[in-house]
Amino acid sequence: MSKELMIYIDGRFYPRSKAKISVYDHGLLYGDGVFEGIRAYDGLIFKLDEHMKRLYSSARAIRLKIPLTRKKLTEAVVETVRKNRLRTCYIRLVVTRGVGTLGVDPARCPKATIIIIAQPLEALLGRKSRQRGVSAVIVSTRRDLPSGTTHEIKSLNYLNSVLAKVEARQAGADEPILLDSRGFFVSEAAVANLFMVKDEVVATPPTTAGLLSGITRSETMKLLNRLGYRLVERDITPFELINADEIFLTGTAAEIVPLVRLNGVKIGNGKPGPVTRRVVEDFHRLTRDPGNGTPI
Ligand code: PMP
Repeated sequence: MSKELMIYIDGRFYPRSKAKISVYDHGLLYGDGVFEGIRAYDGLIFKLDEHMKRLYSSARAIRLKIPLTRKKLTEAVVETVRKNRLRTCYIRLVVTRGVGTLGVDPARCPKATIIIIAQPLEALLGRKSRQRGVSAVIVSTRRDLPSGTTHEIKSLNYLNSVLAKVEARQAGADEPILLDSRGFFVSEAAVANLFMVKDEVVATPPTTAGLLSGITRSETMKLLNRLGYRLVERDITPFELINADEIFLTGTAAEIVPLVRLNGVKIGNGKPGPVTRRVVEDFHRLTRDPGNGTPI
């Protein structure tokens, strides 16, 4: 067997160095497509059904017909992981509008392209970040409008997050925090959702702030409820955020990451707080629970 990773494209497997798609694919030309970032832990693909549901919802929102049923596509994801003999890995599932003309019209793209990459994990934010926490700045780039290229759709159009990330880097911070399109309320980080704790009440912004309804976010919300914390989904102002006792970010790649410095100001005492530490610990257990995973 070749040592190269095998990539799935439209029903066939190609070694990584030969896995290529057309330069006329509208995923490349226009960022026209949808995707999922999924993770497997010790032989279990975490919340795979939820990721598949979200993929089909994103596709529906951009009128993209995925040429496989959800069941068949789920099988293809599992098969890709199996083929690469991976047990703990990151999976990128991409469905582009497919090959078309140079014009933007998706009607000229007869068939969507499906790509599945499964590879060993290169943590977005490593273990050290999870233990010590990260810094963030509120950037001037605003989350896209819910009436436009909203991040409620997990589309291939990530320029909004890219620009926010560039701004954060320029400011010497690890992560950007984006406000909603009006600049009133906190939305999310570049590729992660956000929670804050104040006086033992946990709050997270609503999807109307143009954010992606994260699977880690919803699992964290359930977890907080189970643990008996008071949890509210509500608008959060930058003032409230900077005065929070604790802040943490959630996402498939990041998992749960404490945010300990915002705009140069220490959050709480500048160390991960008790609620965050509890959530980190319990989330770790959740990801290994066979009830939450699809066996590879
Ligand atoms: N927001 C955005 C913009 C993201 O790209 C991601 C990563 N998928 C998240 C939030 C976190 O979502 P999830 O927990 O489903 O990975």
